[in-house]
Amino acid sequence: MQGNLNVQTENIFPVIKKFLYSDHEIFLRELISNAIDATQKLKALSLRDEFKGELGDLTVEVKIDKKKLIISDHGIGMTQEEIDKYINQIAFSGANDFLDKYKDVQENLIGHFGLGFYSAFMVADKVEIETKSYKDAPAVHWSCDGSPEFEMKEGKRKERGTDIILHIADDCKEFLEEHRILELLKKYCRFMPIAIRFGEESVWVDSETEFTEVDDGNGGKKKQPKRVEKKQPRIINDTDPAWKKKPSDLTDEDYKKFYHELYPMNFEDPLFQIHLNVDYPFNLTGILYFPKVRKTIDPNRNKIQLYCNQVFVTDSVEGVVPEYLMLLHGVLDSPDIPLNVSRSYLQSDSNVKKIAQHISKKVADKLEEMSKKNENGEQETESHTQLEDKWDDIKIFVEYGMLTEEKFCERAMKFALLKNTEGKYFKLDDYRDKIKALQTDKDKNVIYLYATDVDEQHAYIAKAKEKGYDVLLMDSVLNSHYINLLEQKIEKTRFVRVDGDTVEKLITHDDNIPEKLSQEEKDKLKPIIEGEVDKAKFTVLLESMESDDQPMVITQNEFMRRYKEMSQTSGGGMGFYGEMPDSYNLVVNINHPLIEQVLKEEDSDKQKQLVHQLTDLALLSNGLLKGEALTQFIKRSVDIIK
Ligand code: ADP
Repeated sequence: MQGNLNVQTENIFPVIKKFLYSDHEIFLRELISNAIDATQKLKALSLRDEFKGELGDLTVEVKIDKKKLIISDHGIGMTQEEIDKYINQIAFSGANDFLDKYKDVQENLIGHFGLGFYSAFMVADKVEIETKSYKDAPAVHWSCDGSPEFEMKEGKRKERGTDIILHIADDCKEFLEEHRILELLKKYCRFMPIAIRFGEESVWVDSETEFTEVDDGNGGKKKQPKRVEKKQPRIINDTDPAWKKKPSDLTDEDYKKFYHELYPMNFEDPLFQIHLNVDYPFNLTGILYFPKVRKTIDPNRNKIQLYCNQVFVTDSVEGVVPEYLMLLHGVLDSPDIPLNVSRSYLQSDSNVKKIAQHISKKVADKLEEMSKKNENGEQETESHTQLEDKWDDIKIFVEYGMLTEEKFCERAMKFALLKNTEGKYFKLDDYRDKIKALQTDKDKNVIYLYATDVDEQHAYIAKAKEKGYDVLLMDSVLNSHYINLLEQKIEKTRFVRVDGDTVEKLITHDDNIPEKLSQEEKDKLKPIIEGEVDKAKFTVLLESMESDDQPMVITQNEFMRRYKEMSQTSGGGMGFYGEMPDSYNLVVNINHPLIEQVLKEEDSDKQKQLVHQLTDLALLSNGLLKGEALTQFIKRSVDIIK
């Protein structure tokens, strides 16, 4: 029998070829999915006793035979009527619909799902089907050479099932290369639910017939079987991946093993994972792993993979999961994510929205649970919660989530941690309780002091601690954004970096220290000091501090510095602040005996030298004295000691 395919345009095949050029490779996913579906259907019929025969070996096989690529299954097969209905009519009218739709949508469609059988024509100039139904019907042979005409006759296939035979086109020869097909099978079919065989592989086993003699350790010899190479069928997939199993059936080791199966090139273990398992109101399974997120975030490796019933779709999940969750690794599998729509449409899809919210909620649940003190005493050590143990490695992730997702932020306010310079962790509320007695200023603001580098800011931290203050360590890349967020979320709160001011001024209480200098003396002192520093960079401030404090201290305005940092991490938008030069305050302690000495010194050279020495010391303690200035300082110091 010959016939015409139900296509509206004469040249659907060139159109199929031309569109989606870069994604030609998905034909293999589509055809193998069909083979798997046909096999699953047979298994289902058998379970319901509607198919009473032997199932036999159900492995799907992929073969390269000269210029042909063949996909064979032992599924339900098709009768002539079924081919006519499913292939000649439905499949090709689907093709028309799809191409119509595709023409309107400029953006990439997720995974190009729905292409189906006719995607074979993206790589083949002739396609044959040899099939025999599980029903008692003659085998059928169908072929089509890429024109709307097809030929259908009685076929030769003896066993139940289907072969799809692709005569690969000359410009698609890559799909006749073993390594290319293997690569595609590994990409798309790695977790499909029916075994897929492609060629053979070698394994090394003990020989049953050949032996060698080796020392037996007691001066004698013993026989040992030779290791020999053995060929065995190469099965390319894991038909029962971890995310499809029950969480209660898996150990931590199983999760780790699966992680490395997913990302063979990543040798680091994940920190922990969340196993997703929902079937109502949408269907979603998957495992999300928390990797260590250090200073650099590399979104290009180990991406979350999206599956649809164990068929790989894509590893660009933008639009499916909230942005901050893209720092996670793992798999999501859901038949409820529409895959033949554009990405922008995807975000407005109600199922996708629900799925994203669900994932976000599960992540918050998990983190909250980890932040609880030991109830079962099992996983947590005495004083540490699990979250404290992992905090340094995941804080960027939590901070990023809080900055970008309102709902997550609300939840995270209850478990997010602050770490102080002594390495202790506190929940936000607990920390406030701890510091509020000493660190509330005269306007009733609670002042959170923080350092970004314990070594560089050591002198300031020590000063603050002397006063009984606590100092946080806040060294993440998102710091300035995060601090702003906390200031907005927690009422009457200000964050000040320890070197933001002199210790007296970091938290202003009412008690002022009396000044030792008169206004007249101050007016005289200021120009002397200003004469010795770079005015563009330093503002000289005279302050009344304790006489045993440092004679001079360098500070940097909190807000200027923070805005500058934010404009650097958020890339533009705040250009004005980003381009500001660094500016500092040179705070002079007018109660210090050495400052009195500066004022009283009559020899102007000696006075200059003293001021210079004092400013250099202040710069040095701030890590700002470098290069030639440092060399000169050392020389001057030696001269003074001599
Ligand atoms: P879809 O799989 O989305 O339904 P396809 O164009 O891929 O669309 O296939 C159309 C139909 O052809 C399938 O629904 C199925 O009934 C039939 N079919 C395709 N491949 C096979 C196969 N290997 N074995 C049995 N039936 C098949």
